[in-house]
Amino acid sequence: MNRSVLITGGNRGIGRAITETFLDAGDRVAVAHRGTDELPGALNLRCDVTSTEQINVAFTSAEAAHGPVEVLVSNAGITDSAPLAAMTEEQFSHVLDTNLTGSYRVAKRATRGMVRIRHGRMIFVSSVMGAAGRRGAGNYAASKAGLVGLSRSIAREYAVYGITANLVSPGLVRTEMLEDMPEDMRLQLLDRTFLKRPAEPEEIASLVFWLAGDESRYVTGAEIHVDGGLGLGA
Ligand code: NDP
Repeated sequence: MNRSVLITGGNRGIGRAITETFLDAGDRVAVAHRGTDELPGALNLRCDVTSTEQINVAFTSAEAAHGPVEVLVSNAGITDSAPLAAMTEEQFSHVLDTNLTGSYRVAKRATRGMVRIRHGRMIFVSSVMGAAGRRGAGNYAASKAGLVGLSRSIAREYAVYGITANLVSPGLVRTEMLEDMPEDMRLQLLDRTFLKRPAEPEEIASLVFWLAGDESRYVTGAEIHVDGGLGLGA
C-alpha cells in the first residue's frame, strides 16, 4: 500500500509480527527500538522511547526515507514486576516512562507530520491488565490504563485533522514477555482465557493492520480486546 509506517518495538514479539504484516502489504516501515535485534526489510532506527531526543532523530530519519509518518503503532513496552510493598519508585517510574510517557512522546512527535497531511492513524498496544489490574504488576497495569485516557484524548483533539487514535488490548500473547511471567500466574490466566491458549503475535498484528486501513476509517477512541475472552474475568 506504500504508506509510511513507524512501529516502536517493531523488531521482536508482537511488534515484529505487526512490522511483517505491513511489509507484506507493501508499506514502508520504520521500526524504532533499542537495538537488541534488527529486522530485515524494515528501516531499523536505534531509539529508546524514554528519550525525546532519540525519538525526534528517529522520526526525522523515517520522514527522510519514507515521507511523513501516516501510521504510528506505539507498541514498545516492558514489565518490571514486584509486589507493591517491594516495588521501588524507580521500578514504578521506569515502566510508566517507557509504556505510557513513551507513547505520549511518539504520539506528540507523530502529530507534526499527520497534521500537515491532514491524515493519520495512531494505534496503541495496551493490555487487558490495564482495566483488570495484575497482581504484582501495579506499575504495568497503571501504564496500560493510562493509555486509554491518552489515546481517547488524542482521538478527541485530533479528529479535526483526520487523525484517528485507537487501542488494541491483548490478553496473553506468545512472546518473550510471556516467558518472563511466573509460571503459576501464566497458568492461572490461561485457565481464565476462554480459548485456553495464548494468542500468536500475528493474531494481534491483523487487528492493528485493520485499524490502520481504510475499512476502519470510522473507528476512533475505541479499545478493542483481542484476548480470547480473558478480559471478561473468571
Ligand atoms: P517483547 O518483550 O517481546 O518486546 C518488547 C519490544 O519493545 C521489543 O521490540 C523491544 O525492543 C521494545 N522496547 C522495550 N523497551 C523499549 C524502549 N525503551 N524503547 C524502544 N523500544 C523498546 O514484548 P511483546 O512483544 O510481548 O509486547 C509488545 C507490547 O504488547 C508491549 O507494549 C506489551 O506490554 C504488550 N502486551 C504484551 C502481552 C503479552 O502477553 N506478550 C499481553 C498484552 C500486552 P528492544 O529490546 O530492541 O528495545
